Amino acid sequence: MHRIKVRVVEDVLDANNTIARANRQDFDRAGVRVVNLMSAPGAGKTALLERALADTGDVRVGVLEGDVEGSLDADRLTSLHIPVVQLNTANGFGGECHLDANMVRSSLAAIPLEEIDLLVIENVGNLVCPAEFRVGEDARAMVCSVAEGDDKPLKYPLMFRACELAVINKIDLLDHVDADLDKLLANLQTVHPGIEHLLTSARTGEGVDGFRDWLVSRVRSPATA
Ligand code: MG
Ligand code: ZN
Repeated sequence: MHRIKVRVVEDVLDANNTIARANRQDFDRAGVRVVNLMSAPGAGKTALLERALADTGDVRVGVLEGDVEGSLDADRLTSLHIPVVQLNTANGFGGECHLDANMVRSSLAAIPLEEIDLLVIENVGNLVCPAEFRVGEDARAMVCSVAEGDDKPLKYPLMFRACELAVINKIDLLDHVDADLDKLLANLQTVHPGIEHLLTSARTGEGVDGFRDWLVSRVRSPATA
């Protein structure tokens, strides 16, 4: 019984990877680099993007907003005057708690790939399954806010291992929460030795330049994912 279940999961991920490769070929053909941005709900992905994407110089950015329902996050980004496409997993995808390659593929026609250099895919807020599904991205980043506690890398190691960058957000709250930043960073290195990290506050703007630079530099660096 257990073996059959494992087999089914492997087949699902194999099928997903095949579609992810097709997405990647389409992105490559259009010369678009893609970042899969993940986090728990409320870690501040959208707030970081609001600040970081306000001025990306000559790098043209678009966003694919993944949410179970609604367009609250996409609406927040409209003031940036960049292409933003909302992808709801409640519409025909069973309200899934993550994006998969097929969902992203279904959105490709709506994304003006020829007009952008970088696509940021804001995944559904969830520290578990988004890490398991490649969507055709070149790089993966995750946001962990200090309000979530310093133990999260140990509790959700796959997410922290799957990403090349961990953005530690809401550092303006460090005096008000019990999380110990040194412990959080040590736990991060334990589960993913050598992972790059940034300290940010989307609220005050501290460290957001570093996140913007990391995003923009994807356009010029070799693919890592
Ligand atoms: Mg969001
Ligand atoms: Zn899920």
